[in-house]
Amino acid sequence: MKVVVIGAGVVGLCSALALRREGAEVIVLDRTLDAHGASAGNAGWVVPMLSAPLSGPGVLGDVVRATLRGEGSVAARPAAGLLSWTAGFLRSSGRRRHQAGLRAVLDLAAGSVERFGELRASGVEFEMHRRGLLLAARTEHGMDEVLALVDGARRAGYDGCTQVHTGAGARRLEPALSDSVHGAVHAPVEAHVRPESVLAGLRAALVAEGAELRGGVDVRGAERDGAGRWRVATSTGPVPADRVVIAAGVPSATLLRDLGVRVPLLAGKGYSVTACGTGTVPVHAVKLLEANLACSPFDGGLRLSGMFELGGRGEGVRSRALRRIQAGAARYLRDWRPAETGLRIGGLRPSTPDSLPVIGAVPGRDGVFAATGHGTLGLTLAPATAAALAPLVLHGVLAPELAPFALGRFGQRATAAAVSAGPISRTSDVAPTPRAR
Ligand SMILES: Cc1cc2nc3c(=O)[nH]c(=O)nc-3n(C[C@H](O)[C@H](O)[C@H](O)COP(=O)(O)OP(=O)(O)OC[C@H]3O[C@@H](n4cnc5c(N)ncnc54)[C@H](O)[C@@H]3O)c2cc1C
Repeated sequence: MKVVVIGAGVVGLCSALALRREGAEVIVLDRTLDAHGASAGNAGWVVPMLSAPLSGPGVLGDVVRATLRGEGSVAARPAAGLLSWTAGFLRSSGRRRHQAGLRAVLDLAAGSVERFGELRASGVEFEMHRRGLLLAARTEHGMDEVLALVDGARRAGYDGCTQVHTGAGARRLEPALSDSVHGAVHAPVEAHVRPESVLAGLRAALVAEGAELRGGVDVRGAERDGAGRWRVATSTGPVPADRVVIAAGVPSATLLRDLGVRVPLLAGKGYSVTACGTGTVPVHAVKLLEANLACSPFDGGLRLSGMFELGGRGEGVRSRALRRIQAGAARYLRDWRPAETGLRIGGLRPSTPDSLPVIGAVPGRDGVFAATGHGTLGLTLAPATAAALAPLVLHGVLAPELAPFALGRFGQRATAAAVSAGPISRTSDVAPTPRAR
Protein backbone atom coordinates (compact mmCIF):
# COMPACT_ATOMS: atom_id res chain seq x y z
CA MET A 1 0.00 0.00 0.00
CA LYS A 2 1.38 3.40 -0.98
CA VAL A 3 1.10 6.13 1.66
CA VAL A 4 1.99 9.77 1.04
CA VAL A 5 2.84 11.74 4.19
CA ILE A 6 2.59 15.53 3.78
CA GLY A 7 5.07 17.21 6.13
CA ALA A 8 8.52 16.23 7.35
CA GLY A 9 8.22 17.78 10.80
CA VAL A 10 8.57 15.52 13.81
CA VAL A 11 4.96 14.29 13.56
CA GLY A 12 5.18 13.50 9.83
CA LEU A 13 8.55 11.77 10.12
CA CYS A 14 7.56 9.66 13.13
CA SER A 15 4.32 8.69 11.38
CA ALA A 16 6.18 7.85 8.18
CA LEU A 17 8.60 5.58 10.06
CA ALA A 18 5.82 3.74 11.87
CA LEU A 19 3.96 3.25 8.56
CA ARG A 20 7.12 2.03 6.82
CA ARG A 21 7.83 -0.40 9.65
CA GLU A 22 4.28 -1.76 9.25
CA GLY A 23 5.14 -2.56 5.63
CA ALA A 24 3.74 0.43 3.71
CA GLU A 25 5.47 1.99 0.74
CA VAL A 26 6.03 5.53 2.08
CA ILE A 27 6.74 8.86 0.38
CA VAL A 28 7.24 11.98 2.53
CA LEU A 29 6.73 15.36 0.84
CA ASP A 30 7.87 18.70 2.24
CA ARG A 31 8.71 22.17 1.03
CA THR A 32 12.14 21.68 2.58
CA LEU A 33 13.96 18.84 4.28
CA ASP A 34 16.27 21.27 6.10
CA ALA A 35 15.68 21.36 9.85
CA HIS A 36 13.48 24.41 10.43
CA GLY A 37 10.53 25.75 12.37
CA ALA A 38 8.86 24.27 15.42
CA SER A 39 10.13 20.73 14.98
CA ALA A 40 13.76 21.92 14.91
CA GLY A 41 13.66 24.85 17.31
CA ASN A 42 11.60 23.43 20.17
CA ALA A 43 12.88 22.90 23.71
CA GLY A 44 13.27 19.17 23.15
CA TRP A 45 11.31 18.19 26.26
CA VAL A 46 9.62 14.80 26.40
CA VAL A 47 7.29 15.60 29.25
CA PRO A 48 4.06 13.64 29.81
CA MET A 49 3.80 15.51 33.12
CA LEU A 50 3.06 18.74 31.22
CA SER A 51 0.02 17.26 29.43
CA ALA A 52 -2.43 19.85 30.79
CA PRO A 53 -4.23 21.80 28.05
CA LEU A 54 -3.39 25.51 27.89
CA SER A 55 -7.09 26.27 28.19
CA GLY A 56 -8.12 25.94 31.81
CA PRO A 57 -9.77 27.70 34.73
CA GLY A 58 -8.06 30.98 35.57
CA VAL A 59 -5.71 30.93 32.60
CA LEU A 60 -6.67 34.42 31.40
CA GLY A 61 -5.98 35.81 34.89
CA ASP A 62 -2.55 34.13 34.87
CA VAL A 63 -1.74 35.68 31.49
CA VAL A 64 -2.80 39.16 32.66
CA ARG A 65 -0.81 38.86 35.92
CA ALA A 66 2.32 37.72 34.08
CA THR A 67 1.96 40.59 31.61
CA LEU A 68 1.62 43.11 34.46
CA ARG A 69 4.77 41.67 36.11
CA GLY A 70 6.61 42.24 32.83
CA GLU A 71 7.01 38.48 32.35
CA GLY A 72 4.26 38.11 29.76
CA SER A 73 5.03 35.38 27.26
CA VAL A 74 1.66 35.34 25.48
CA ALA A 75 0.54 37.75 22.77
CA ALA A 76 -2.10 37.76 20.03
CA ARG A 77 -1.54 38.97 16.47
CA PRO A 78 -4.37 39.84 14.06
CA ALA A 79 -5.22 36.66 12.16
CA ALA A 80 -8.17 35.19 10.29
CA GLY A 81 -10.17 33.04 12.69
CA LEU A 82 -8.68 34.62 15.82
CA LEU A 83 -12.06 35.53 17.34
CA SER A 84 -13.66 32.12 16.86
CA TRP A 85 -10.45 30.42 18.04
CA THR A 86 -10.50 32.53 21.21
CA ALA A 87 -14.19 31.76 21.76
CA GLY A 88 -13.40 28.03 21.41
CA PHE A 89 -10.49 28.43 23.83
CA LEU A 90 -12.75 30.04 26.44
CA ARG A 91 -15.39 27.33 25.95
CA SER A 92 -12.70 24.70 26.64
CA SER A 93 -11.50 26.45 29.80
CA GLY A 94 -14.12 25.04 32.17
CA ARG A 95 -12.83 22.69 34.86
CA ARG A 96 -14.54 19.60 33.48
CA ARG A 97 -13.31 20.03 29.90
CA HIS A 98 -9.84 20.93 31.13
CA GLN A 99 -9.61 17.74 33.20
CA ALA A 100 -11.02 15.56 30.42
CA GLY A 101 -8.46 17.09 28.03
CA LEU A 102 -5.63 16.49 30.49
CA ARG A 103 -6.61 12.84 30.91
CA ALA A 104 -6.87 12.35 27.14
CA VAL A 105 -3.46 13.88 26.40
CA LEU A 106 -1.84 12.08 29.33
CA ASP A 107 -3.24 8.75 28.06
CA LEU A 108 -1.52 9.39 24.74
CA ALA A 109 1.65 10.83 26.27
CA ALA A 110 2.17 8.10 28.89
CA GLY A 111 5.18 6.05 27.89
CA SER A 112 6.59 8.76 25.59
CA VAL A 113 10.03 8.73 27.23
CA GLU A 114 10.16 4.97 26.73
CA ARG A 115 9.03 5.40 23.11
CA PHE A 116 11.99 7.71 22.44
CA GLY A 117 14.24 5.11 24.09
CA GLU A 118 12.74 2.43 21.82
CA LEU A 119 13.33 4.59 18.74
CA ARG A 120 17.01 4.78 19.68
CA ALA A 121 17.17 1.06 20.39
CA SER A 122 15.66 0.43 16.93
CA GLY A 123 18.53 2.30 15.25
CA VAL A 124 17.30 5.92 15.08
CA GLU A 125 20.29 7.96 16.27
CA PHE A 126 19.77 11.18 18.24
CA GLU A 127 20.89 13.04 21.36
CA MET A 128 18.84 12.18 24.47
CA HIS A 129 19.26 13.17 28.13
CA ARG A 130 17.49 11.43 30.99
CA ARG A 131 18.09 13.66 34.00
CA GLY A 132 14.46 14.63 34.39
CA LEU A 133 12.69 17.97 34.38
CA LEU A 134 13.00 20.65 37.06
CA LEU A 135 10.14 23.09 37.52
CA ALA A 136 11.67 26.11 39.24
CA ALA A 137 9.70 28.99 40.76
CA ARG A 138 10.98 32.32 42.09
CA THR A 139 7.90 33.13 44.17
CA GLU A 140 5.64 31.41 46.66
CA HIS A 141 2.70 31.90 44.27
CA GLY A 142 4.77 30.31 41.49
CA MET A 143 5.60 27.36 43.73
CA ASP A 144 1.87 26.94 44.46
CA GLU A 145 1.31 26.81 40.68
CA VAL A 146 3.99 24.15 40.31
CA LEU A 147 2.46 22.03 43.06
CA ALA A 148 -1.04 22.44 41.58
CA LEU A 149 0.30 21.39 38.18
CA VAL A 150 1.90 18.27 39.64
CA ASP A 151 -1.22 17.50 41.65
CA GLY A 152 -3.45 17.90 38.56
CA ALA A 153 -1.22 15.56 36.54
CA ARG A 154 -1.23 13.00 39.36
CA ARG A 155 -5.00 13.06 39.67
CA ALA A 156 -5.25 12.52 35.91
CA GLY A 157 -3.03 9.44 36.16
CA TYR A 158 0.59 10.66 35.97
CA ASP A 159 2.56 8.05 37.87
CA GLY A 160 6.15 9.30 37.60
CA CYS A 161 7.77 10.16 40.94
CA THR A 162 8.34 13.81 41.88
CA GLN A 163 10.48 15.44 44.55
CA VAL A 164 9.73 18.85 46.09
CA HIS A 165 12.76 21.03 46.95
CA THR A 166 13.24 24.26 48.83
CA GLY A 167 15.32 26.92 47.08
CA ALA A 168 18.49 25.65 48.77
CA GLY A 169 17.64 22.05 47.89
CA ALA A 170 16.98 23.03 44.29
CA ARG A 171 20.39 24.74 44.09
CA ARG A 172 22.12 21.66 45.52
CA LEU A 173 20.50 19.58 42.76
CA GLU A 174 21.07 22.22 40.06
CA PRO A 175 23.89 24.59 40.99
CA ALA A 176 23.15 26.75 37.93
CA LEU A 177 20.01 28.12 39.64
CA SER A 178 20.28 31.58 41.20
CA ASP A 179 19.57 32.55 44.81
CA SER A 180 16.26 34.05 43.67
CA VAL A 181 14.77 30.59 43.11
CA HIS A 182 12.24 29.94 45.88
CA GLY A 183 11.66 26.24 45.26
CA ALA A 184 11.39 23.55 42.64
CA VAL A 185 9.90 20.18 41.80
CA HIS A 186 12.07 17.56 40.16
CA ALA A 187 10.41 14.96 37.93
CA PRO A 188 13.31 12.55 37.35
CA VAL A 189 11.61 10.31 34.79
CA GLU A 190 11.03 13.06 32.19
CA ALA A 191 13.65 13.48 29.45
CA HIS A 192 14.88 15.83 26.79
CA VAL A 193 16.30 15.36 23.30
CA ARG A 194 18.04 17.57 20.76
CA PRO A 195 15.21 18.20 18.27
CA GLU A 196 17.37 18.69 15.16
CA SER A 197 19.14 15.41 15.89
CA VAL A 198 15.77 13.64 16.19
CA LEU A 199 14.75 14.97 12.76
CA ALA A 200 18.08 13.95 11.24
CA GLY A 201 17.92 10.51 12.85
CA LEU A 202 14.37 9.91 11.62
CA ARG A 203 15.22 11.03 8.08
CA ALA A 204 18.28 8.75 8.00
CA ALA A 205 16.29 5.78 9.32
CA LEU A 206 13.51 6.34 6.78
CA VAL A 207 15.95 6.40 3.86
CA ALA A 208 17.85 3.37 5.20
CA GLU A 209 14.59 1.45 5.58
CA GLY A 210 13.41 2.18 2.03
CA ALA A 211 11.08 5.18 2.37
CA GLU A 212 11.35 8.08 -0.05
CA LEU A 213 11.82 11.67 1.15
CA ARG A 214 11.16 14.46 -1.34
CA GLY A 215 12.08 18.05 -0.45
CA GLY A 216 11.32 21.17 -2.50
CA VAL A 217 7.73 19.98 -2.96
CA ASP A 218 4.83 22.30 -2.17
CA VAL A 219 1.64 20.30 -1.70
CA ARG A 220 -1.46 22.06 -3.02
CA GLY A 221 -4.23 19.57 -2.40
CA ALA A 222 -5.47 16.06 -2.97
CA GLU A 223 -8.14 14.65 -5.21
CA ARG A 224 -9.46 11.30 -6.33
CA ASP A 225 -8.32 9.96 -9.68
CA GLY A 226 -10.68 8.02 -11.93
CA ALA A 227 -9.59 4.69 -10.42
CA GLY A 228 -10.53 5.71 -6.86
CA ARG A 229 -6.91 6.28 -5.69
CA TRP A 230 -5.73 9.64 -4.35
CA ARG A 231 -3.62 12.03 -6.38
CA VAL A 232 -1.66 14.52 -4.28
CA ALA A 233 -1.27 17.73 -6.28
CA THR A 234 2.15 19.33 -5.85
CA SER A 235 4.40 21.99 -7.34
CA THR A 236 6.39 19.21 -9.01
CA GLY A 237 3.48 17.20 -10.37
CA PRO A 238 0.90 14.77 -9.01
CA VAL A 239 1.86 11.93 -6.66
CA PRO A 240 -0.51 8.94 -6.58
CA ALA A 241 -1.38 7.32 -3.24
CA ASP A 242 -3.67 4.75 -1.65
CA ARG A 243 -3.59 6.67 1.63
CA VAL A 244 -2.67 10.26 2.48
CA VAL A 245 -1.54 11.54 5.89
CA ILE A 246 -1.70 15.31 6.40
CA ALA A 247 0.96 16.23 8.96
CA ALA A 248 1.82 19.69 7.68
CA GLY A 249 1.64 21.66 10.91
CA VAL A 250 -0.34 24.91 10.74
CA PRO A 251 -0.90 24.73 6.93
CA SER A 252 -2.74 21.44 7.52
CA ALA A 253 -5.80 23.61 8.20
CA THR A 254 -5.77 24.89 4.61
CA LEU A 255 -5.31 21.42 3.11
CA LEU A 256 -8.17 20.12 5.27
CA ARG A 257 -10.39 23.11 4.48
CA ASP A 258 -9.96 22.37 0.77
CA LEU A 259 -11.18 18.86 1.54
CA GLY A 260 -14.26 20.35 3.16
CA VAL A 261 -13.27 19.89 6.81
CA ARG A 262 -12.91 22.73 9.27
CA VAL A 263 -10.09 22.40 11.79
CA PRO A 264 -9.46 25.68 13.64
CA LEU A 265 -5.67 25.68 13.79
CA LEU A 266 -3.75 28.83 14.60
CA ALA A 267 -0.03 29.25 15.05
CA GLY A 268 1.36 29.72 18.55
CA LYS A 269 4.64 31.21 17.47
CA GLY A 270 7.65 30.63 19.68
CA TYR A 271 11.38 31.20 19.57
CA SER A 272 14.57 29.57 20.72
CA VAL A 273 18.19 30.56 20.94
CA THR A 274 20.96 28.00 21.43
CA ALA A 275 24.37 29.24 22.46
CA CYS A 276 27.57 28.48 24.30
CA GLY A 277 28.13 30.73 27.27
CA THR A 278 30.12 31.57 30.36
CA GLY A 279 29.26 30.66 33.96
CA THR A 280 27.54 27.62 35.46
CA VAL A 281 25.70 25.63 32.79
CA PRO A 282 22.49 23.89 33.91
CA VAL A 283 22.57 20.11 33.63
CA HIS A 284 18.80 19.64 33.85
CA ALA A 285 15.99 20.73 31.57
CA VAL A 286 14.37 23.50 33.65
CA LYS A 287 10.95 25.09 33.33
CA LEU A 288 11.28 28.68 34.52
CA LEU A 289 7.78 28.92 35.92
CA GLU A 290 6.78 32.57 36.21
CA ALA A 291 8.59 33.54 33.01
CA ASN A 292 7.09 30.52 31.25
CA LEU A 293 10.42 29.75 29.60
CA ALA A 294 12.31 26.54 28.89
CA CYS A 295 15.97 25.91 29.46
CA SER A 296 17.49 22.85 27.74
CA PRO A 297 21.14 21.86 28.06
CA PHE A 298 22.39 20.13 24.90
CA ASP A 299 25.80 18.80 23.95
CA GLY A 300 27.66 21.96 22.94
CA GLY A 301 25.11 24.64 23.89
CA LEU A 302 22.25 25.78 26.09
CA ARG A 303 18.83 26.36 24.48
CA LEU A 304 16.47 28.96 25.93
CA SER A 305 13.00 29.03 24.43
CA GLY A 306 9.49 30.31 24.89
CA MET A 307 6.83 32.87 23.89
CA PHE A 308 3.41 32.07 22.47
CA GLU A 309 2.29 34.56 19.83
CA LEU A 310 -1.18 33.45 18.83
CA GLY A 311 -1.70 34.06 15.12
CA GLY A 312 2.05 34.62 14.58
CA ARG A 313 3.21 34.18 10.98
CA GLY A 314 6.34 32.94 9.26
CA GLU A 315 9.41 31.51 10.88
CA GLY A 316 11.30 34.80 11.09
CA VAL A 317 13.00 35.59 14.39
CA ARG A 318 12.32 38.83 16.26
CA SER A 319 15.42 39.98 18.14
CA ARG A 320 13.16 41.63 20.73
CA ALA A 321 11.56 38.27 21.57
CA LEU A 322 14.98 36.66 21.99
CA ARG A 323 16.20 39.49 24.23
CA ARG A 324 13.10 38.98 26.34
CA ILE A 325 13.75 35.25 26.60
CA GLN A 326 17.38 35.78 27.60
CA ALA A 327 16.51 38.48 30.15
CA GLY A 328 13.74 36.31 31.62
CA ALA A 329 16.05 33.30 31.95
CA ALA A 330 18.81 35.37 33.55
CA ARG A 331 16.56 35.91 36.58
CA TYR A 332 16.67 32.18 37.33
CA LEU A 333 20.28 31.39 36.38
CA ARG A 334 23.17 32.08 38.74
CA ASP A 335 25.75 33.35 36.29
CA TRP A 336 25.29 31.61 32.94
CA ARG A 337 25.27 34.18 30.15
CA PRO A 338 25.49 33.58 26.38
CA ALA A 339 28.89 34.26 24.84
CA GLU A 340 27.74 34.26 21.22
CA THR A 341 24.71 35.10 19.08
CA GLY A 342 23.96 31.42 18.75
CA LEU A 343 21.42 29.53 16.68
CA ARG A 344 18.06 31.35 16.50
CA ILE A 345 14.89 29.61 15.37
CA GLY A 346 11.27 30.71 15.14
CA GLY A 347 8.56 28.08 14.89
CA LEU A 348 4.79 27.79 14.68
CA ARG A 349 3.10 25.47 17.15
CA PRO A 350 -0.02 24.11 15.40
CA SER A 351 -2.56 25.03 18.08
CA THR A 352 -6.22 24.09 18.48
CA PRO A 353 -8.62 26.04 20.74
CA ASP A 354 -9.01 23.04 23.09
CA SER A 355 -5.22 22.34 23.09
CA LEU A 356 -5.86 18.76 21.94
CA PRO A 357 -4.22 17.34 18.83
CA VAL A 358 -6.16 16.40 15.74
CA ILE A 359 -5.48 12.77 14.87
CA GLY A 360 -7.68 10.51 12.79
CA ALA A 361 -9.60 9.86 9.60
CA VAL A 362 -10.79 12.88 7.61
CA PRO A 363 -14.59 12.62 7.61
CA GLY A 364 -15.98 11.94 4.17
CA ARG A 365 -12.57 11.40 2.58
CA ASP A 366 -11.93 7.68 2.59
CA GLY A 367 -8.18 7.09 2.82
CA VAL A 368 -7.13 10.56 4.05
CA PHE A 369 -5.93 11.08 7.63
CA ALA A 370 -4.68 14.01 9.71
CA ALA A 371 -2.01 14.16 12.41
CA THR A 372 -1.55 17.73 13.55
CA GLY A 373 -2.58 20.32 16.14
CA HIS A 374 -0.15 19.06 18.80
CA GLY A 375 0.47 22.60 20.04
CA THR A 376 3.02 22.77 22.83
CA LEU A 377 3.55 18.98 22.95
CA GLY A 378 4.24 17.86 19.39
CA LEU A 379 7.66 16.45 20.09
CA THR A 380 6.50 14.54 23.17
CA LEU A 381 3.46 13.12 21.39
CA ALA A 382 4.97 12.37 17.96
CA PRO A 383 6.02 8.73 18.57
CA ALA A 384 2.72 7.90 20.35
CA THR A 385 0.75 9.59 17.56
CA ALA A 386 2.64 7.54 14.99
CA ALA A 387 2.11 4.27 16.86
CA ALA A 388 -1.66 4.84 17.06
CA LEU A 389 -2.00 6.26 13.55
CA ALA A 390 -0.27 3.47 11.59
CA PRO A 391 -2.86 0.73 12.35
CA LEU A 392 -5.67 3.19 11.63
CA VAL A 393 -4.21 4.19 8.25
CA LEU A 394 -3.25 0.69 7.16
CA HIS A 395 -5.93 -1.52 8.73
CA GLY A 396 -8.76 0.80 9.88
CA VAL A 397 -8.04 -0.08 13.53
CA LEU A 398 -8.88 2.85 15.82
CA ALA A 399 -6.90 2.92 19.08
CA PRO A 400 -9.25 3.95 21.92
CA GLU A 401 -6.85 6.67 23.07
CA LEU A 402 -7.40 8.50 19.74
CA ALA A 403 -11.15 8.99 20.26
CA PRO A 404 -10.86 12.46 21.93
CA PHE A 405 -8.75 13.75 19.04
CA ALA A 406 -11.19 13.06 16.17
CA LEU A 407 -11.52 15.72 13.48
CA GLY A 408 -15.31 15.75 13.72
CA ARG A 409 -15.24 17.53 17.10
CA PHE A 410 -15.14 20.95 15.42
CA GLY A 411 -18.13 20.22 13.20
CA GLN A 412 -17.73 19.59 9.50
CA ARG A 413 -18.27 22.28 6.96
CA ALA A 414 -18.00 21.41 3.25
CA THR A 415 -16.67 24.58 1.66
CA ALA A 416 -17.74 25.86 -1.73
CA ALA A 417 -14.15 25.40 -2.91
CA ALA A 418 -14.17 21.73 -1.96
CA VAL A 419 -17.42 21.10 -3.76
CA SER A 420 -16.61 22.98 -6.95
CA ALA A 421 -13.09 21.56 -7.22
CA GLY A 422 -14.67 18.15 -6.78
CA PRO A 423 -11.88 16.50 -4.78
CA ILE A 424 -14.40 14.10 -3.27
CA SER A 425 -14.88 10.71 -4.80
CA ARG A 426 -18.49 10.38 -5.83
CA THR A 427 -18.29 6.62 -5.47
CA SER A 428 -16.40 6.39 -2.20
CA ASP A 429 -17.40 9.37 -0.19
CA VAL A 430 -17.41 7.83 3.26
CA ALA A 431 -14.63 7.51 5.81
CA PRO A 432 -13.89 3.87 6.61
CA THR A 433 -15.70 2.71 9.73
CA PRO A 434 -12.80 2.29 12.12
CA ARG A 435 -12.70 -0.92 14.09
CA ALA A 436 -12.16 -0.32 17.79
CA ARG A 437 -9.12 -1.93 19.36
C1 LIG B 1 9.67 27.48 21.06
C2 LIG B 1 8.98 26.13 21.03
C3 LIG B 1 9.26 25.21 22.03
C4 LIG B 1 8.61 23.96 22.04
N1 LIG B 1 8.98 23.03 22.96
C5 LIG B 1 8.43 21.80 22.92
C6 LIG B 1 8.88 20.79 23.82
O1 LIG B 1 9.79 20.99 24.59
N2 LIG B 1 8.27 19.57 23.79
C7 LIG B 1 7.25 19.30 22.92
O2 LIG B 1 6.70 18.20 22.98
N3 LIG B 1 6.84 20.23 22.00
C8 LIG B 1 7.41 21.46 21.99
N4 LIG B 1 7.02 22.41 21.08
C9 LIG B 1 5.93 22.09 20.15
C10 LIG B 1 6.44 21.25 18.97
O3 LIG B 1 7.64 21.79 18.50
C11 LIG B 1 5.39 21.22 17.86
O4 LIG B 1 4.15 20.79 18.38
C12 LIG B 1 5.81 20.25 16.76
O5 LIG B 1 7.09 20.57 16.28
C13 LIG B 1 4.81 20.25 15.60
O6 LIG B 1 5.31 19.34 14.66
P1 LIG B 1 4.59 19.08 13.28
O7 LIG B 1 5.36 18.04 12.58
O8 LIG B 1 3.13 18.85 13.52
O9 LIG B 1 4.63 20.48 12.52
P2 LIG B 1 5.88 21.29 11.85
O10 LIG B 1 7.10 21.17 12.66
O11 LIG B 1 5.33 22.64 11.59
O12 LIG B 1 6.11 20.49 10.50
C14 LIG B 1 5.23 20.59 9.41
C15 LIG B 1 6.01 20.38 8.14
O13 LIG B 1 5.09 20.44 7.04
C16 LIG B 1 5.67 21.16 5.98
N5 LIG B 1 4.59 21.72 5.17
C17 LIG B 1 3.59 22.54 5.58
N6 LIG B 1 2.77 22.81 4.55
C18 LIG B 1 3.24 22.15 3.47
C19 LIG B 1 2.83 22.05 2.12
N7 LIG B 1 1.72 22.65 1.68
N8 LIG B 1 3.59 21.32 1.26
C20 LIG B 1 4.70 20.67 1.70
N9 LIG B 1 5.13 20.72 2.99
C21 LIG B 1 4.41 21.45 3.85
C22 LIG B 1 6.51 22.22 6.67
O14 LIG B 1 7.55 22.67 5.80
C23 LIG B 1 7.03 21.48 7.89
O15 LIG B 1 8.29 20.90 7.64
C24 LIG B 1 7.65 23.66 21.03
C25 LIG B 1 7.40 24.57 20.01
C26 LIG B 1 8.05 25.81 20.00
C27 LIG B 1 7.78 26.78 18.88
